[in-house]
Amino acid sequence: MTLPGSPHVAVIGGGICGLAAAHRLVRRGARVTLLESSDQLGGLGTFFAHGDRWAERFYHCVMPSDASLLALLGELGLRDSVRWRETTMGMVVEGHRHPFNSALDLLRFSPLRLPDRVRFGVVSLLLRRLGRDKDLDRLRTEDWLRGLYGDVVWERLFAPMFGSKFGASFGDVPALYLWQRLGRERNVATRGYPAGGYKTIIDALRTSIERAGGTVRTSAPVRRLHSTGGRAVLTLAEGEVLDADHVVSTVPLPQLRRIADDELAARLPRTDLPYQGVVTGVFFLRRPLTEHYWTPVLHSGTEFDGVVAMSELAGTTGGHHLVYVMRYTDRGSPLYLDDDEAIAARWSAQLRALYPELGPDDLAEVRVFKAPFVEPVYPLGYLAERPPVAVAGTNLLLATTAHVYPDVTSWNSSVALANDVTSRIAVPAGDQPAVAEPAR
Ligand SMILES: Cc1cc2nc3c(=O)[nH]c(=O)nc-3n(C[C@H](O)[C@H](O)[C@H](O)COP(=O)(O)OP(=O)(O)OC[C@H]3O[C@@H](n4cnc5c(N)ncnc54)[C@H](O)[C@@H]3O)c2cc1C
Repeated sequence: MTLPGSPHVAVIGGGICGLAAAHRLVRRGARVTLLESSDQLGGLGTFFAHGDRWAERFYHCVMPSDASLLALLGELGLRDSVRWRETTMGMVVEGHRHPFNSALDLLRFSPLRLPDRVRFGVVSLLLRRLGRDKDLDRLRTEDWLRGLYGDVVWERLFAPMFGSKFGASFGDVPALYLWQRLGRERNVATRGYPAGGYKTIIDALRTSIERAGGTVRTSAPVRRLHSTGGRAVLTLAEGEVLDADHVVSTVPLPQLRRIADDELAARLPRTDLPYQGVVTGVFFLRRPLTEHYWTPVLHSGTEFDGVVAMSELAGTTGGHHLVYVMRYTDRGSPLYLDDDEAIAARWSAQLRALYPELGPDDLAEVRVFKAPFVEPVYPLGYLAERPPVAVAGTNLLLATTAHVYPDVTSWNSSVALANDVTSRIAVPAGDQPAVAEPAR
């Protein structure tokens, strides 16, 4: 419910960060308008129809350590809808498949010689501890891992794994990123997936915002943003203009710069930060592909560098086994610019070459999805350079993947960021419930 004298907050972007921010603000009594450029909500966590079911364009799972996300799901009455499962990991090296879960798996892992296997196991056990009290933000990932694991492990395993995530400058990414990632995953095999998929969460957030009096608009791209002093003006399609007391922008910084007017652009943080995009192939199979949820694919002649067998976590989708393959890449790369059908054809052949037991009739459908901005390729010392959330001299607050570092880019870190950013907007105190009622 909107409180008298409450500020009008425009939230740009209807991914999880924008939805969580709008949910938080409207529950505190602010007048909220959420504007999403595409025709559906969810951002990188958005969905597509497959028969009468929905699937995510990009594979997503919840980790037990995702405290902010799980708390939000609790508010929405969805926490118990997360189904937890023990998952396993495989590894494909030079076309050969290996399980990669236990000490015995490691001892049998033939791509490394025995001394390197032992060193890998010991260092991995100690890695979190070895990173404590070190300035990992200023230490190159390559320098840290090469020193600890040795040249062979770096070149055979880590270089292709990090290269696939961060592109050519992967060795320069701060070791802090990896350390945080290990903290999020804590070597646990337990992963969660919400019943009905991520669309259930997106729909519940929309319902929650609208029930509390907020406005959610899709197909509503912000084309121009002006923000000085205490007011902002947002220009939408066909010249429609919206005034706001505060703006929360969740769009990646390069995209924000494109819509900012000259005055605002001069106040925005650096945008020469390179961003990684992603291409995913989504396969609907008539038979299971592998029992491993996550399988990095190294030195195997494929364009994709990992396989996620989503059905091992989420169950089948309309009777099909859902498998994602992915390649993180720059939005200007030849792969990113290639035709979806051509990618689908090549990646189907490459998947069959890796898993020859997959017959032509086993592949029911394949879809290709792309996202231009997944996360920045963080430079060394980014903790000190990270742009502030508040843009000086304006009423604009930034809540983007460039701000979640050193947390791992995830729904959890976006929700935590949304909580932080919205707490900076003053809303007159009302008698809102401390914990909102479930939206469904
Ligand atoms: C392949 C892949 C796998 C992932 N796996 C996981 C996982 O397992 N678990 C997990 O938690 N996270 C995962 N993530 C990360 C997660 O998806 C992101 O961290 C999160 O979705 C970021 O949310 P966001 O709201 O900050 O940004 P986004 O989702 O990018 O939302 C920004 C929104 O702004 C909109 N927008 C842009 N310009 C404008 C404009 N001018 N006007 C209006 N709207 C605009 C966009 O359309 C978009 O909807 C994965 C991501 C990818 C790509």
